[in-house]
Amino acid sequence: MKIHEYQARDLFRKYGIPVPEGELCHSVDEVKKKISDKDKLRVVKAQVLVGGRGKAGGVKLATTKAEAIEKAKQILGMEIKGITVEKILVADAVDIEKEFYVGLINDRNTKSVMLMASAEGGVEIEEVAKTSPEKIIKMPIDPTMGLMDWQARKVALQLFGDPKQVRQAAAILVKLYQLYIETDSSLAEINPLVLTPDKQVLAIDGKMNFDDNALFRQREIIAMREADENEKKELEANAKGLSYIKLDGNIGCMVNGAGLAMATMDMIKLYGGDPANFLDIGGSSNPQKVIDAMNILLSDKNVKSVMINIFGGITRCDDVARGLVAALQEIKTDIPIVIRLSGTNAKEGLEIIEQTGLPVVKTMSEAAKKAIELSKK
Ligand code: GDP
Ligand code: MN
Repeated sequence: MKIHEYQARDLFRKYGIPVPEGELCHSVDEVKKKISDKDKLRVVKAQVLVGGRGKAGGVKLATTKAEAIEKAKQILGMEIKGITVEKILVADAVDIEKEFYVGLINDRNTKSVMLMASAEGGVEIEEVAKTSPEKIIKMPIDPTMGLMDWQARKVALQLFGDPKQVRQAAAILVKLYQLYIETDSSLAEINPLVLTPDKQVLAIDGKMNFDDNALFRQREIIAMREADENEKKELEANAKGLSYIKLDGNIGCMVNGAGLAMATMDMIKLYGGDPANFLDIGGSSNPQKVIDAMNILLSDKNVKSVMINIFGGITRCDDVARGLVAALQEIKTDIPIVIRLSGTNAKEGLEIIEQTGLPVVKTMSEAAKKAIELSKK
């Protein structure tokens, strides 16, 4: 689960990490009402669950209240990576002497939480990791000891020269670790952590993800959930017993079993296509699931063709076929569909499908090729 920057800032504040004040607004009117009449340096920031807002024009500085209102008008309603901006944070801005990166992640190689830091802050850390990995400091944290003060100071000393700033930064790292552990986080980033000309160290951006499997014991965190359009669809699918992840391609996939779903996506890629999603309808033979799955698939405007790939084991192909026929009677669509059924009751299933006039193919590669071909028409 992801949260917005303004929510991460709230958590930072709760744990004593210094963050400038800000107001969350959903409209220009709200900005006019909520922020003081005083002219000062402010920053207007799109609140969307995707990175790189700055680059996309979703973070803008303003020196007066009138200018802040103007920037709010520009940012509200804009699209960042396909997500419409519906809320903004209007925060006190600071002058920046230098930007740093600090973050915590679960590191599978060391089987520990990894503290990462870099003097190359502000920019996307993935870029730094690619082009100059030596500029990222890494410190694995022993889970039985936690982040020790000396470790935090050691890392901070590599970013800051002055002992006062080292102490400030080290204290922030220790608090960030405490927040990370106590909230079952899987990612906590401050990018940038800034040094101001008057030598204050503070967080001006925050990103946090949480382990979905721990949400049952994180009431305060789960209450922060504000799913965006994509996440809403995924949650809706989960509630119906489907696992669905939206991707950027145009070939919808409906598959039973996670392994087969991965193989289907690989097959589509192999023949030069792009899957629109991962969708596993699971191992039961419930026709309603097919209807739900088709509804979810076809609600994606990018989908130009659908490849249905079923391997019947516990799931019986004739049940899937009946579900499919029922679904297609309910959902009138012009999107071409290719079906491959194999395994338990495949013969019966194929007969049911053939009666409806839908194209049936024998092999998985044939299905992928056909779905790609149809997606181009
Ligand atoms: P992101 O692009 O989504 O990571 O958004 P950020 O909140 O990190 O902002 C992007 C960039 O905008 C930062 O790296 C800063 O250079 C700049 N910025 C953000 N807030 C402030 C601020 O308070 N003062 C100044 N001077 N620049 C800011
Ligand atoms: Mn940032």
